[in-house]
Amino acid sequence: MWSSSNKIAAGDVVITWLTRDVIQPFVVTPGKDLNSRYGYYRHSDLIGQPYGSKIGSRNGKGFIHILRPTPELWTLALPHRTQILYLADIAFITSWLNIRPGSVVVEAGTGSGSFTHSITRTVGRNGKVFSYEFHEARAAKARDEFETHGMSDVVTLTHRNVCKDGFTVENVADAVFLDLPAPWDAIDHAKSALRKDRTARICCFSPCMEQVLRTVTSLNETGFTDITMYETLIRPHEVNQLPVLPSIAVASEKLKKSERKREDKRLRQIAQARAKHTEKRKRSDDEGADAEEDRMERKKTKTRNGTDEGEATTQNAWVSATTPDSLAGGDASTQVVSRVMPEVRGHTSFLTFAVLLPRVQASAPDIESALQRDRS
Ligand code: SAM
Repeated sequence: MWSSSNKIAAGDVVITWLTRDVIQPFVVTPGKDLNSRYGYYRHSDLIGQPYGSKIGSRNGKGFIHILRPTPELWTLALPHRTQILYLADIAFITSWLNIRPGSVVVEAGTGSGSFTHSITRTVGRNGKVFSYEFHEARAAKARDEFETHGMSDVVTLTHRNVCKDGFTVENVADAVFLDLPAPWDAIDHAKSALRKDRTARICCFSPCMEQVLRTVTSLNETGFTDITMYETLIRPHEVNQLPVLPSIAVASEKLKKSERKREDKRLRQIAQARAKHTEKRKRSDDEGADAEEDRMERKKTKTRNGTDEGEATTQNAWVSATTPDSLAGGDASTQVVSRVMPEVRGHTSFLTFAVLLPRVQASAPDIESALQRDRS
């Protein structure tokens, strides 16, 4: 599948990463140019460059990255001919259907080939993918792509209406995946395609509940078991790094320390005032000195009772202004926190899974009589 060389060569399918939202595939063709708002590039300049290179534009307008295609990148970059499956669903389906190297998978419809690319890589050279598409132009385009991407050994694409005409294979598939408007019409055919000598699985991808209900009914009637439905939802989380808040013990110790400092300062101020006052009294013989003593005494009493206006204001300002600093800034370590963003993106469909158990070759009484024959 695709080039396995580290260097870009003429004729390679490459993915150009312009921005997170602009990811495009193209075939490296000497003589052609790539023009974008991030500048223009000659395909021939890419030849011999390692995959993953950052390439500067010829007219100095920007740069691009040239990446080797993977099924994941292909899903992000492919030309849409239909709605496609995205990675969250693809990964879940692949896992639940137990698709692995060597598996035989039947898929309908092919559509834009997003799912086909992923499972072709998963089943590998020892596996097989039978893909069906009833839209002729889409089938032809997908066949071309599979050829260009070196997948034709593994994928066989058939232009066919599977609901009407069924599949071209019988008793071979480990798994069937149906992404069709009316999957219930293809379930009987899917049963024929699935192997009967060991557990086989099916998944139907449908956007609405009415389709799920019809599919479930059909699966039940056809003899599938373990019918179960999932919905894959993507919930974006906003992640931030914030300072760790100190424990209550640490925070209260900090508060006590500040309190002690403030009290020391207050006592120092009183002592200074007293000293100043005593000094004045010594120097003064007249009555004015007594008046000053009374005034100072009043101030002292007020301050001790904490009713002094200036003190009270300072205390309030300390609580509101310094609490966040002392709690957050005092501790150097940080923690990563996240919150779920309100929007839910990524719902594409409901996934209905079911299992086809191996056909029992002999019934219980047969087994019992066989055992008795063995014993005698
Ligand atoms: N799973 C594909 C992907 O990831 O790119 C997208 C499949 S697309 C949503 C559904 C496709 O099924 C369409 O291309 C449509 O033409 C095809 N289709 C619909 N009914 C069909 C049928 N009865 N037999 C074969 N293909 C059918």
